[in-house]
Amino acid sequence: MSTAKDSAGQSPFDEVNARLDEAADLAGVPAEAMSLLKAPYREIQVQIPIFSNSHLRHFSGYRVQHNAARGPYKGGIRYHPHVDLEEVRALASLMTWKTALVNIPFGGAKGGVACDPSTLSESELYDLTTIFFSRLAMILGPSRDIPAPDMGTNAKVMGWAMAAYGKMNGHTPAVVTGKPLSLGGSLGREDATGKGVVIVTGQWARDNGLSLEGATVVVQGFGNVGSFAAFHFVDKGAKVIAVNDIKGAIRNDKGLDIEALMQYVAKTGTVAGFELSDELNSDEILLQKCDYLVPAALGGVITSENAGQINAKVVVEAANHPVTSDGEEILLKAGVEIIPDLIANAGGVTVSYFEWVQNIQQFAWNAERVSEELQRILGGGFAQVLEFAKENKVTLRQASFGLALRRVYEASKARGYIRL
Ligand code: NAD
Repeated sequence: MSTAKDSAGQSPFDEVNARLDEAADLAGVPAEAMSLLKAPYREIQVQIPIFSNSHLRHFSGYRVQHNAARGPYKGGIRYHPHVDLEEVRALASLMTWKTALVNIPFGGAKGGVACDPSTLSESELYDLTTIFFSRLAMILGPSRDIPAPDMGTNAKVMGWAMAAYGKMNGHTPAVVTGKPLSLGGSLGREDATGKGVVIVTGQWARDNGLSLEGATVVVQGFGNVGSFAAFHFVDKGAKVIAVNDIKGAIRNDKGLDIEALMQYVAKTGTVAGFELSDELNSDEILLQKCDYLVPAALGGVITSENAGQINAKVVVEAANHPVTSDGEEILLKAGVEIIPDLIANAGGVTVSYFEWVQNIQQFAWNAERVSEELQRILGGGFAQVLEFAKENKVTLRQASFGLALRRVYEASKARGYIRL
């Protein structure tokens, strides 16, 4: 997510709050309660000094705990040069509404370190992670705050994070999710977000009398979410005709061989140069004609500048906050449907919830059970969004915020935090 303000001068956090204000009436939340529900509970910034090759470097790390009315704080840790407090705050708030929308017993948080992980050696990344999590340890815990991977972090980083916390608190697998299987990770976590994107898109298609069979798909970003979304789209009979990543873009009108592409990316680190495809200008990825456009990289990529040129029937928000408010206005006027991030990418946090449950019970589920429960929880959540949107004649995003806000408000009242 870029922290740049949009044409109306709004930051990403302002944008999330504007969407909440818009949903307040729908959710039946009085204005007085809104300022409390929008504000983060706690924001922490820590120094992370790294000493390597006789040089001292220092990074800034953040954790924002937004709301825990419904359960412990939950949200990813991002390593990316654009990370700052403003971005983390917006993403933490989105997690509060996402966990409420799929009705899992968590609140919302987010964290990150402003760094470019591709320029750090493995041992520097290990040191950075160990120091960051040691400094956060006092506010983390299985019943307090449970981090997970996000952009630039992965299962390996979560394993190091668990170990850093464990040095101070004893072996505690349930303190982070998205861990390696050897440390109590869950089967099905790695592809959960991408799989969830396809579960929700397939459900939207059925609700509109359509099918994913033969549909065309374009994916921006071929990392964890984008690559597994592409894989599961193909599994459902769709054709992924173009993808890109930070280094390049490719296209094949007959449909890319996603399994071969995943193997190619594992070897080369990029989609660029994949032999079974033509090269494409990366700036044009979002403008390709397709049924489903899936931004799965950064936030703020569809704005008033390019929304008018989008040539898709549906935008599926696999990334967090890829469409700005002014971009959304243009898309909706042009009749482009948007499946919002709050539900479209909630598969990851849903399987993170399963991982936490398995760690607490010290009992591992098989892959079939994970898959069935994901379908049940995410599919059930999206069915409620579709129904609420129809009943109230609002967009899927307004319905998502309305339902989520109502749940967090009810929990806050039940705790006695809000006595209105
Ligand atoms: P990742 O680091 O695995 O992959 C990111 C991909 O985006 C990479 O292919 C990278 O090359 C590409 N990319 C980066 N900048 C780009 C640019 N300017 N243009 C085109 N491609 C670019 O990250 P991820 O975990 O797949 O996360 C992607 C998005 O999904 C983020 O917005 C993240 O917050 C969101 N998300 C992730 C999860 C999860 O479980 N990983 C869950 C919910 C939401």
